[in-house]
Amino acid sequence: MLEAAQRWQYIAIALFVVLALIALLYAISQIQRNKRLHKLAMTDELTQVGNRRCVLARCDQVQQQAAQLQQSWCLMIADIDYFKQCNDQFGHEAGDEVLVAVAKTLHDTLRQHDSIGRSGGEEFLLVLPDTGEVQALEVAERLRLAVALLQFPRFPAYQVTVSIGLTQAGRHEQVREVISRADSALYRAKDNGRNQVVSA
Ligand code: GH3
Ligand code: MG
Ligand code: MG
Repeated sequence: MLEAAQRWQYIAIALFVVLALIALLYAISQIQRNKRLHKLAMTDELTQVGNRRCVLARCDQVQQQAAQLQQSWCLMIADIDYFKQCNDQFGHEAGDEVLVAVAKTLHDTLRQHDSIGRSGGEEFLLVLPDTGEVQALEVAERLRLAVALLQFPRFPAYQVTVSIGLTQAGRHEQVREVISRADSALYRAKDNGRNQVVSA
């Protein structure tokens, strides 16, 4: 009688352990699935850098941190010059190849704590936390040069360049005001002849 009760007790414990393991594995798979979905929702499919949603979230984060720690931060908009001509001359697939290469170059040339996102079309937003205008100008010039050095063996006649609008954020400024000023600087860079950095 006692033996039978003990056996049932072991069976119950074993069942409990198995159920607990199944629950744990299920929880882990759900966490991994959510992470994958989050990454998908935040990543630009073509270039694999962050998308607009991702980089805007990063702007909010950096702006809040800057306000708390009384730090400066800068924002840049980099836009590929005459990109429509690239598509027209070499085809949309070549255009996609250029977009991927430019995104990778910008990403790899940025410093570790800076962020990049494709904000649409052939335009990228770059966020530089804890950075003043002078330092940001150096980074921007490095980015511009790195892009201008890119070569495309499949269409060697093509030379890609970017124009960059840069601005230092005001301490209590809204992100959209900062973006709007960087955008004005970008328009000036375009007007002045492209392949250059303008700060506003
Ligand atoms: P600007 O120097 O003034 O920026 O001129 P632009 O030709 O770069 O600018 P415009 O806005 O006239 O053209 C942008 C082009 O970018 C048009 C559009 O077809 C192309 N484009 C946008 N998204 C993609 C994409 O995902 N792939 C490709 N291949 N082209 C794209
Ligand atoms: Mg363009
Ligand atoms: Mg554009």
